[in-house]
Amino acid sequence: MNNDRLAIVVPCYNEEEMLAISSETLRGVIDELVSQNKIAADSFILFVDDGSKDNTWSLIEKEHEAHPENVKGLKLSGNVGHQYALTAGLLKAMDYSDVTVSIDADLQDDVSVISEMIDKFHEGNEIVYGVRNDRGTDSFFKRNSAQAFYKIMAKMGVKTVYNHADFRLMSKKALTEFSKYEESNLFLRGMVPLLGFKSDSVYYSRKERVAGKSKYPLRKMISLAFNGISSFSVKPIELITWMGGLIIVCCFLAAIYAFVSYFTGNVEKGWTSLILSIWFIGGVQLLSIGLIGQYIGKIYVEVKHRPRYHEEKWLYDNK
Ligand code: UDP
Ligand code: MG
Repeated sequence: MNNDRLAIVVPCYNEEEMLAISSETLRGVIDELVSQNKIAADSFILFVDDGSKDNTWSLIEKEHEAHPENVKGLKLSGNVGHQYALTAGLLKAMDYSDVTVSIDADLQDDVSVISEMIDKFHEGNEIVYGVRNDRGTDSFFKRNSAQAFYKIMAKMGVKTVYNHADFRLMSKKALTEFSKYEESNLFLRGMVPLLGFKSDSVYYSRKERVAGKSKYPLRKMISLAFNGISSFSVKPIELITWMGGLIIVCCFLAAIYAFVSYFTGNVEKGWTSLILSIWFIGGVQLLSIGLIGQYIGKIYVEVKHRPRYHEEKWLYDNK
Protein backbone atom coordinates (compact mmCIF):
# COMPACT_ATOMS: atom_id res chain seq x y z
CA MET A 1 0.00 0.00 0.00
CA ASN A 2 1.30 3.42 -0.91
CA ASN A 3 0.67 6.00 1.76
CA ASP A 4 1.42 9.20 -0.12
CA ARG A 5 -1.78 11.21 -0.06
CA LEU A 6 -2.11 13.35 -3.17
CA ALA A 7 -4.11 16.57 -3.34
CA ILE A 8 -4.91 17.97 -6.79
CA VAL A 9 -5.53 21.69 -6.31
CA VAL A 10 -7.81 23.37 -8.85
CA PRO A 11 -8.56 27.12 -8.73
CA CYS A 12 -11.98 27.85 -10.26
CA TYR A 13 -13.50 31.14 -11.30
CA ASN A 14 -16.85 30.91 -13.06
CA GLU A 15 -16.14 27.39 -14.19
CA GLU A 16 -19.65 25.90 -14.02
CA GLU A 17 -19.30 24.47 -17.50
CA MET A 18 -16.05 22.73 -16.61
CA LEU A 19 -16.60 21.56 -13.07
CA ALA A 20 -18.31 18.22 -13.60
CA ILE A 21 -15.95 17.32 -16.45
CA SER A 22 -12.88 18.30 -14.42
CA SER A 23 -14.07 16.41 -11.39
CA GLU A 24 -14.75 13.27 -13.38
CA THR A 25 -11.46 13.40 -15.27
CA LEU A 26 -9.38 14.08 -12.19
CA ARG A 27 -11.17 11.41 -10.16
CA GLY A 28 -10.29 9.06 -12.99
CA VAL A 29 -6.65 10.08 -12.64
CA ILE A 30 -6.74 9.47 -8.89
CA ASP A 31 -8.42 6.06 -9.29
CA GLU A 32 -5.82 4.98 -11.79
CA LEU A 33 -2.90 6.12 -9.66
CA VAL A 34 -4.40 4.36 -6.63
CA SER A 35 -4.85 1.17 -8.61
CA GLN A 36 -1.20 1.39 -9.70
CA ASN A 37 -0.31 1.76 -6.05
CA LYS A 38 1.36 5.14 -6.63
CA ILE A 39 -0.72 7.18 -4.17
CA ALA A 40 -2.91 6.61 -1.13
CA ALA A 41 -6.58 5.72 -1.57
CA ASP A 42 -7.77 8.80 0.31
CA SER A 43 -6.13 11.18 -2.19
CA PHE A 44 -8.41 14.01 -3.23
CA ILE A 45 -9.18 16.93 -5.52
CA LEU A 46 -9.41 20.33 -3.84
CA PHE A 47 -11.55 22.78 -5.79
CA VAL A 48 -10.98 26.39 -4.76
CA ASP A 49 -13.87 28.66 -5.65
CA ASP A 50 -12.34 32.06 -6.29
CA GLY A 51 -15.48 34.11 -5.63
CA SER A 52 -17.33 32.82 -8.69
CA LYS A 53 -20.51 34.59 -9.69
CA ASP A 54 -22.07 31.54 -11.31
CA ASN A 55 -22.99 28.09 -9.95
CA THR A 56 -19.43 26.90 -9.43
CA TRP A 57 -19.69 26.56 -5.64
CA SER A 58 -22.97 24.66 -5.59
CA LEU A 59 -21.48 22.27 -8.16
CA ILE A 60 -18.45 21.78 -5.91
CA GLU A 61 -20.79 21.03 -3.00
CA LYS A 62 -22.63 18.50 -5.15
CA GLU A 63 -19.38 16.80 -6.15
CA HIS A 64 -18.30 16.66 -2.53
CA GLU A 65 -21.61 15.10 -1.49
CA ALA A 66 -21.34 12.46 -4.17
CA HIS A 67 -17.65 11.73 -3.52
CA PRO A 68 -16.85 12.99 -0.01
CA GLU A 69 -13.54 11.17 0.17
CA ASN A 70 -12.14 12.29 -3.15
CA VAL A 71 -13.56 15.78 -3.65
CA LYS A 72 -13.03 18.65 -1.22
CA GLY A 73 -13.87 22.32 -1.64
CA LEU A 74 -12.65 25.66 -0.37
CA LYS A 75 -14.69 28.78 -1.00
CA LEU A 76 -13.01 32.16 -0.90
CA SER A 77 -15.13 35.12 0.14
CA GLY A 78 -14.51 37.05 -3.07
CA ASN A 79 -12.49 37.01 -6.28
CA VAL A 80 -8.80 37.38 -5.49
CA GLY A 81 -7.30 36.12 -8.75
CA HIS A 82 -5.71 32.92 -9.95
CA GLN A 83 -2.35 33.19 -8.13
CA TYR A 84 -4.00 33.91 -4.79
CA ALA A 85 -6.72 31.29 -5.16
CA LEU A 86 -4.10 28.70 -6.06
CA THR A 87 -1.94 29.67 -3.08
CA ALA A 88 -4.96 29.43 -0.78
CA GLY A 89 -5.62 25.92 -2.06
CA LEU A 90 -1.99 24.79 -1.84
CA LEU A 91 -1.55 26.04 1.72
CA LYS A 92 -4.81 24.39 2.74
CA ALA A 93 -3.84 21.13 1.04
CA MET A 94 -0.42 21.18 2.71
CA ASP A 95 -2.01 20.23 6.04
CA TYR A 96 -3.94 17.30 4.60
CA SER A 97 -1.61 15.74 2.06
CA ASP A 98 1.94 14.57 1.36
CA VAL A 99 2.15 15.86 -2.18
CA THR A 100 0.13 18.30 -4.32
CA VAL A 101 -0.40 18.88 -8.00
CA SER A 102 -1.85 22.20 -9.16
CA ILE A 103 -3.80 22.37 -12.40
CA ASP A 104 -6.31 24.71 -14.05
CA ALA A 105 -9.98 23.78 -14.11
CA ASP A 106 -10.14 23.94 -17.90
CA LEU A 107 -7.94 20.85 -18.35
CA GLN A 108 -5.76 22.57 -20.96
CA ASP A 109 -2.85 20.88 -19.26
CA ASP A 110 -2.44 17.20 -19.96
CA VAL A 111 -3.65 15.21 -16.94
CA SER A 112 -1.93 12.07 -18.20
CA VAL A 113 1.49 13.42 -17.19
CA ILE A 114 0.42 13.60 -13.52
CA SER A 115 1.42 9.96 -13.27
CA GLU A 116 4.90 10.85 -14.56
CA MET A 117 5.07 13.69 -12.03
CA ILE A 118 4.31 11.25 -9.21
CA ASP A 119 7.04 8.90 -10.49
CA LYS A 120 9.54 11.77 -10.38
CA PHE A 121 8.36 12.61 -6.87
CA HIS A 122 9.03 9.02 -5.82
CA GLU A 123 12.49 9.34 -7.35
CA GLY A 124 13.19 12.07 -4.81
CA ASN A 125 12.13 15.31 -6.52
CA GLU A 126 10.38 17.81 -4.31
CA ILE A 127 9.13 19.92 -7.25
CA VAL A 128 8.14 18.74 -10.74
CA TYR A 129 7.34 21.36 -13.39
CA GLY A 130 4.88 20.72 -16.20
CA VAL A 131 6.44 22.26 -19.31
CA ARG A 132 4.65 22.84 -22.62
CA ASN A 133 6.62 21.69 -25.59
CA ASP A 134 4.02 22.74 -28.09
CA ARG A 135 1.79 25.79 -28.26
CA GLY A 136 0.00 24.77 -31.41
CA THR A 137 -3.45 25.45 -29.98
CA ASP A 138 -2.66 28.92 -28.62
CA SER A 139 -3.43 31.89 -30.84
CA PHE A 140 -0.51 33.53 -32.68
CA PHE A 141 -0.76 36.49 -30.33
CA LYS A 142 -0.92 34.48 -27.09
CA ARG A 143 2.00 32.28 -28.15
CA ASN A 144 4.28 35.18 -29.05
CA SER A 145 3.32 37.43 -26.18
CA ALA A 146 3.82 34.57 -23.71
CA GLN A 147 7.24 33.77 -25.16
CA ALA A 148 8.33 37.41 -25.13
CA PHE A 149 7.23 37.47 -21.50
CA TYR A 150 9.54 34.59 -20.49
CA LYS A 151 12.43 36.28 -22.30
CA ILE A 152 11.89 39.69 -20.68
CA MET A 153 11.61 38.02 -17.27
CA ALA A 154 14.97 36.33 -17.83
CA LYS A 155 16.56 39.64 -18.88
CA MET A 156 15.22 41.26 -15.72
CA GLY A 157 16.96 38.59 -13.67
CA VAL A 158 13.83 36.68 -12.62
CA LYS A 159 14.44 32.94 -12.71
CA THR A 160 11.45 31.17 -14.21
CA VAL A 161 11.09 27.83 -15.95
CA TYR A 162 10.64 28.48 -19.67
CA ASN A 163 7.14 27.59 -20.91
CA HIS A 164 5.98 26.46 -17.52
CA ALA A 165 2.77 27.92 -16.12
CA ASP A 166 1.22 26.74 -12.87
CA PHE A 167 0.86 23.04 -13.61
CA ARG A 168 3.28 21.55 -11.12
CA LEU A 169 3.87 19.05 -8.37
CA MET A 170 5.06 20.21 -4.97
CA SER A 171 5.84 17.96 -2.02
CA LYS A 172 4.77 18.78 1.49
CA LYS A 173 8.38 19.69 2.24
CA ALA A 174 8.52 22.19 -0.65
CA LEU A 175 5.17 23.67 0.36
CA THR A 176 6.24 24.04 3.97
CA GLU A 177 9.22 26.10 2.81
CA PHE A 178 7.01 28.00 0.37
CA SER A 179 4.68 28.95 3.24
CA LYS A 180 7.57 30.95 4.75
CA TYR A 181 7.25 33.51 1.96
CA GLU A 182 5.03 36.13 3.51
CA GLU A 183 4.92 38.57 0.59
CA SER A 184 1.51 39.69 -0.56
CA ASN A 185 2.38 40.17 -4.25
CA LEU A 186 2.33 36.59 -5.44
CA PHE A 187 4.04 35.39 -8.57
CA LEU A 188 4.31 31.66 -8.10
CA ARG A 189 6.35 30.96 -11.22
CA GLY A 190 9.10 33.14 -9.85
CA MET A 191 8.78 32.06 -6.23
CA VAL A 192 8.85 28.28 -6.62
CA PRO A 193 12.31 28.17 -8.30
CA LEU A 194 13.66 30.19 -5.33
CA LEU A 195 12.94 27.21 -3.11
CA GLY A 196 15.81 25.20 -4.51
CA PHE A 197 15.47 21.44 -3.83
CA LYS A 198 15.82 18.66 -6.33
CA SER A 199 13.39 19.28 -9.15
CA ASP A 200 12.58 17.95 -12.59
CA SER A 201 10.23 18.63 -15.51
CA VAL A 202 7.70 16.65 -17.49
CA TYR A 203 6.68 17.68 -21.01
CA TYR A 204 3.26 17.85 -22.63
CA SER A 205 1.40 19.73 -25.29
CA ARG A 206 -1.20 22.23 -24.20
CA LYS A 207 -4.71 21.63 -25.40
CA GLU A 208 -7.65 23.84 -26.21
CA ARG A 209 -10.02 24.76 -23.37
CA VAL A 210 -12.69 22.03 -23.17
CA ALA A 211 -15.53 24.45 -22.30
CA GLY A 212 -16.05 28.00 -21.09
CA LYS A 213 -13.96 31.07 -21.89
CA SER A 214 -10.46 32.15 -20.92
CA LYS A 215 -10.46 34.23 -17.74
CA TYR A 216 -7.13 35.75 -18.75
CA PRO A 217 -7.87 38.60 -21.11
CA LEU A 218 -5.01 40.81 -22.32
CA ARG A 219 -5.50 43.17 -19.39
CA LYS A 220 -4.87 40.38 -16.86
CA MET A 221 -1.92 39.03 -18.86
CA ILE A 222 -0.21 42.43 -18.83
CA SER A 223 -0.90 42.84 -15.15
CA LEU A 224 0.57 39.36 -14.45
CA ALA A 225 3.68 40.24 -16.45
CA PHE A 226 4.13 43.59 -14.75
CA ASN A 227 3.51 42.07 -11.35
CA GLY A 228 6.04 39.34 -12.08
CA ILE A 229 8.75 41.85 -12.92
CA SER A 230 7.96 44.39 -10.23
CA SER A 231 7.69 41.73 -7.51
CA PHE A 232 11.04 40.22 -8.32
CA SER A 233 13.39 42.69 -9.82
CA VAL A 234 14.87 46.07 -9.03
CA LYS A 235 16.41 46.18 -12.52
CA PRO A 236 13.99 48.88 -13.77
CA ILE A 237 15.32 51.21 -11.04
CA GLU A 238 18.89 50.46 -12.07
CA LEU A 239 17.93 51.36 -15.61
CA ILE A 240 16.88 54.86 -14.46
CA THR A 241 20.26 55.39 -12.81
CA TRP A 242 22.06 54.27 -15.96
CA MET A 243 19.93 56.54 -18.08
CA GLY A 244 20.79 59.50 -15.84
CA GLY A 245 24.50 58.72 -16.22
CA LEU A 246 24.11 58.38 -19.97
CA ILE A 247 22.40 61.75 -20.27
CA ILE A 248 25.18 63.43 -18.32
CA VAL A 249 27.68 61.94 -20.78
CA CYS A 250 25.50 63.20 -23.64
CA CYS A 251 25.54 66.59 -21.92
CA PHE A 252 29.26 66.88 -22.67
CA LEU A 253 28.70 66.05 -26.32
CA ALA A 254 25.89 68.58 -26.42
CA ALA A 255 28.24 71.11 -24.81
CA ILE A 256 30.82 70.63 -27.54
CA TYR A 257 28.14 71.02 -30.19
CA ALA A 258 26.72 74.12 -28.48
CA PHE A 259 30.12 75.81 -28.19
CA VAL A 260 31.05 75.02 -31.78
CA SER A 261 27.73 76.53 -32.90
CA TYR A 262 28.32 79.51 -30.62
CA PHE A 263 31.77 80.27 -32.03
CA THR A 264 30.82 79.68 -35.65
CA GLY A 265 28.36 82.41 -34.91
CA ASN A 266 24.89 81.70 -36.22
CA VAL A 267 22.93 81.03 -32.98
CA GLU A 268 20.26 83.01 -31.17
CA LYS A 269 21.35 84.89 -28.10
CA GLY A 270 20.88 82.78 -24.95
CA TRP A 271 20.46 79.45 -26.80
CA THR A 272 23.83 78.03 -25.69
CA SER A 273 23.29 78.52 -21.97
CA LEU A 274 19.68 77.37 -22.23
CA ILE A 275 20.44 74.14 -24.06
CA LEU A 276 23.31 73.30 -21.72
CA SER A 277 21.12 73.83 -18.65
CA ILE A 278 18.40 71.58 -20.03
CA TRP A 279 20.78 68.70 -20.66
CA PHE A 280 22.64 69.06 -17.40
CA ILE A 281 19.62 69.51 -15.11
CA GLY A 282 17.81 66.64 -16.88
CA GLY A 283 20.75 64.29 -16.34
CA VAL A 284 21.24 65.29 -12.70
CA GLN A 285 17.52 64.81 -12.02
CA LEU A 286 17.38 61.35 -13.55
CA LEU A 287 20.53 60.27 -11.75
CA SER A 288 19.14 61.54 -8.45
CA ILE A 289 15.82 59.76 -8.94
CA GLY A 290 17.76 56.61 -9.76
CA LEU A 291 19.85 56.93 -6.60
CA ILE A 292 16.77 57.40 -4.42
CA GLY A 293 15.30 54.43 -6.28
CA GLN A 294 18.27 52.28 -5.29
CA TYR A 295 17.43 52.87 -1.64
CA ILE A 296 13.76 52.18 -2.26
CA GLY A 297 14.85 48.98 -4.00
CA LYS A 298 16.76 47.92 -0.90
CA ILE A 299 13.79 48.71 1.34
CA TYR A 300 11.58 46.72 -0.99
CA VAL A 301 13.83 43.69 -0.78
CA GLU A 302 13.95 43.97 3.02
CA VAL A 303 10.21 44.36 3.60
CA LYS A 304 9.52 41.18 1.67
CA HIS A 305 11.07 39.26 4.54
CA ARG A 306 11.83 36.39 2.26
CA PRO A 307 13.50 33.41 3.90
CA ARG A 308 17.26 33.67 3.38
CA TYR A 309 17.77 29.93 2.86
CA HIS A 310 15.93 26.64 2.92
CA GLU A 311 17.14 23.68 4.92
CA GLU A 312 17.06 20.40 3.08
CA LYS A 313 18.71 17.93 5.45
CA TRP A 314 20.30 18.01 8.84
CA LEU A 315 22.55 15.30 10.19
CA TYR A 316 22.61 15.24 13.96
CA ASP A 317 22.98 12.10 15.96
CA ASN A 318 21.03 10.04 13.43
CA LYS A 319 21.24 6.59 14.97
N1 UDP B 1 -8.99 31.60 -12.29
C1 UDP B 1 -9.18 31.95 -10.96
N2 UDP B 1 -9.42 33.27 -10.65
C2 UDP B 1 -9.43 34.26 -11.60
C3 UDP B 1 -9.19 33.89 -12.95
C4 UDP B 1 -8.97 32.56 -13.26
O1 UDP B 1 -9.17 31.08 -10.08
O2 UDP B 1 -9.65 35.42 -11.24
C5 UDP B 1 -8.74 30.18 -12.64
C6 UDP B 1 -9.60 29.63 -13.76
O3 UDP B 1 -10.84 29.16 -13.27
C7 UDP B 1 -8.73 28.52 -14.31
C8 UDP B 1 -7.31 29.04 -14.09
O4 UDP B 1 -7.42 30.07 -13.12
O5 UDP B 1 -8.87 27.32 -13.58
C9 UDP B 1 -6.68 29.59 -15.37
O6 UDP B 1 -7.54 30.50 -16.02
P1 UDP B 1 -7.81 30.45 -17.60
O7 UDP B 1 -7.89 29.05 -18.07
O8 UDP B 1 -8.99 31.29 -17.87
O9 UDP B 1 -6.48 31.13 -18.16
P2 UDP B 1 -5.72 30.83 -19.57
O10 UDP B 1 -5.51 29.35 -19.63
O11 UDP B 1 -6.62 31.32 -20.63
O12 UDP B 1 -4.45 31.60 -19.47
MG1 MG C 1 -6.85 27.98 -19.45
